[in-house]
Amino acid sequence: MFRVPRIVKDFSSFFSEAGFQCYLVGGAVRDMLFGRKVQDFDIATDALPEDVIRVFRRVIPTGIKHGTVTVLFKETRFEVTTFRIDQDYQNGRRPDSVIFTPSIEEDLKRRDFTINAIAYDLHNHHLLDPHGGRKDLKAGIIRAIGDPLQRFREDGLRPIRACRFAAQFRFEIEEDTFTGISRSIDTVKMVSAERIRDELIRLLEAQTPSVGFSLLDGCGLLRLIIPELTACKNVEQGDLHQYDVYHHLLYACDAAPRDNLPVRLAALFHDLGKPETLNLSPDGEISFHRHEALSARLAGRILRRLRFSNQILKQVGHLVTQHMFHYEPQWTDAAVRRFVARVGEKNIPDILSLRRADQLAIVGKRFVSGSLLALEKRIEEVLAEDKALTLKDLAINGDDIIRELQIPRGPKVGIILNALLEGVLDDPSQNDRKTLLRIARKFYESRFADAH
Ligand code: ATP
Ligand code: MG
Repeated sequence: MFRVPRIVKDFSSFFSEAGFQCYLVGGAVRDMLFGRKVQDFDIATDALPEDVIRVFRRVIPTGIKHGTVTVLFKETRFEVTTFRIDQDYQNGRRPDSVIFTPSIEEDLKRRDFTINAIAYDLHNHHLLDPHGGRKDLKAGIIRAIGDPLQRFREDGLRPIRACRFAAQFRFEIEEDTFTGISRSIDTVKMVSAERIRDELIRLLEAQTPSVGFSLLDGCGLLRLIIPELTACKNVEQGDLHQYDVYHHLLYACDAAPRDNLPVRLAALFHDLGKPETLNLSPDGEISFHRHEALSARLAGRILRRLRFSNQILKQVGHLVTQHMFHYEPQWTDAAVRRFVARVGEKNIPDILSLRRADQLAIVGKRFVSGSLLALEKRIEEVLAEDKALTLKDLAINGDDIIRELQIPRGPKVGIILNALLEGVLDDPSQNDRKTLLRIARKFYESRFADAH
């Protein structure tokens, strides 16, 4: 019933040989019992971090203050934590000091939810489940261990984790646990942005993140973490739209590919600017002029606040900024090329995924827009022709212009190159050295003649 992977058995034998206990704990046990794919292995032991460092060759002191080290064993990562009792919670943050204990039972008590406090004894091959984790796992319940309010006041990340797990597994949050969450909002304020970000990332990897966001909203946490989202509630959009902006964003996020974090984030944020740009014309028509620019600014603000990487920030901002394209069959090849140039060839799959998610969240049922498919096909054709799309693809570069026109390096060179690209997007046959140099000279003489 409980099959331990070979690698974990091999790993645990090092502990028995050195005379230490060794338990598989946390997500791995839960996910194996649940029949899910196991992501990483958490190990609990009475060995101290320095013992672990002595036994294994490759050990990273990830959280040595809290008794955690990461062991790389045959290319697999093991998070090894010494049995501990947490102490001195500082304003709902992680404890400043911990006490190590020789007892796995004590260690299981400090864990967050019953389903996360099942341990598997890797030496004696049996499960330890003092908090009824298996029962809750079967029933689909997230339940805090001990007094929920006290446990949430110890660590304000736990309420967010509860919502994340509930969304990930489509579980219910047990009633007292949920009440405890609603009453610990102030503690969540103390949690570092990085820890919240990591939980949000896990939530965004769930099949339907909207479940988690709705729970976060229901207990008052969403307004704290991403108020820009709750501001979209009850903002109606007219037209075909079946949902207000808030629900549209949540469902677009669900519809975006779950293994693509930037697109999920872009879907969640793409219309954040709508509440502020809303305009109602005298004949009752609703519009949101240039909302994509404001949405991108707000998305940037949120992602910076939550300490997302610059790369994510840039990618999400770009996708949100570009999300308002309107393809028509009348688009010329030049228009398609210009679209590709503006979005960037490498971002095309993402912008199309975003649009698909956006469309799915309008009426709430699957429909594949013919015009999106047509645009995809046109882009493929244009790319297959391998015609110049960016400055890098031009048959000449800045040095050629400097040499040909005998001008110094400077902004004029860039202006000329961009003008050449514009021309090539319209007429790809211009993209050969001789033609471009000729056009460059003509452009230079007409535009900068008196500068000579
Ligand atoms: P995942 O599959 O997302 O890794 P996980 O349950 O393994 O889920 P981790 O963050 O890897 O989550 O934590 C490992 C274990 O450590 C948890 O199962 C839980 O027992 C304990 N734990 C983690 N964070 C907390 C916390 N904030 N408070 C109490 N216990 C925690
Ligand atoms: Mg884990």
